[in-house]
Amino acid sequence: MSEILFNRIALIGIGLIGSSIARDIRKLGLAREVVISTRSAETLKRAEELDLGTAYTTSAADAARDADLVIVSVPVGASEAVAQQIASSLKPGAIVTDVGSTKASVIAQMAPHMPEGVHFIPGHPLAGTEKSGPDAGFSGLFKGRWCIFTPLPDTDADALARLGGFWQALGSRVDEMDPQHHDKVLAIVSHLPHIIAYNIVGTADDLEAVTESEVIKYSASGFRDFTRLAASDPTMWRDVCLHNKDAILEMLARFSEDLAYLQRAIRWGEGDKLIELFSRTRAVRRSIVEAGQDVDVPDFGRHTLDK
Ligand code: NAP
Repeated sequence: MSEILFNRIALIGIGLIGSSIARDIRKLGLAREVVISTRSAETLKRAEELDLGTAYTTSAADAARDADLVIVSVPVGASEAVAQQIASSLKPGAIVTDVGSTKASVIAQMAPHMPEGVHFIPGHPLAGTEKSGPDAGFSGLFKGRWCIFTPLPDTDADALARLGGFWQALGSRVDEMDPQHHDKVLAIVSHLPHIIAYNIVGTADDLEAVTESEVIKYSASGFRDFTRLAASDPTMWRDVCLHNKDAILEMLARFSEDLAYLQRAIRWGEGDKLIELFSRTRAVRRSIVEAGQDVDVPDFGRHTLDK
């Protein structure tokens, strides 16, 4: 058990991310009360069956009342509606944060609704899987992973330190970024890879003749690794695409240019160019392993990490 960091924590949204946070809070004893809120009675019932909190409600406003920390874990496109719902229940001094994969849009949606005296600190834990819902979460998801805060200019330093301490208790390393910079970085490290995966799996699916047999049968040749990303939650990824539009379009333009370069090198038999690129990319993989962001085993360590 760790020390109690907050008296009452409200978790709004209890899918993969919300339920993983809940499991860690319960396991580590980080709060006296954990109030769970989700919009559907069905998900709420499941959260209760899983014993993720100490109280349950479909009303985000009720959950946020008297909470010392409110963590919003819903698709980014739903941020404004949640902010509107909780605004009048928030007590002075409360910390409100989120886990959304895009930051400038979430700030634009939530910040205008935050009452005076409430500390709104946008956040994004860089951890997850392709699964969704409360059953998909697990304790330890955030261990060794980064949690990035994109604080507003007038953010209270004590509140930021308290929230940082919370994520560190979950095993995360914390960092700070400007929201626009966050959105650019995430466009390349997360959003573009998912879009490429959705695209390549979609292309294969369009080739119906082979999809039914060979694509699935021989998928372990490389295709399979894309299907994991392409199995990610459609609503979450629709919202990411629509709410980080500019940075994603910029990265897609660069990607298309670089792909054309590769295409040309293949067409003209320029093996030296291929070797140069493939060697550079192999070094990137080594750096990721050295940075502790993956383990050096076949299959990207999937069978050991994605449990
Ligand atoms: P999830 O498993 O699909 O859970 C989504 C939660 O949000 C559920 O409680 C759901 O409620 C609720 N919800 C869905 N649509 C809503 C709406 N329109 N209004 C209010 N509530 C709504 O999602 P998740 O993977 O935990 O993702 C949550 C957030 O974390 C997203 O913003 C995502 O960008 C971010 N994130 C995800 C990952 C990842 O790998 N998945 C990683 C880092 C950050 P009901 O079930 O009751 O409908």
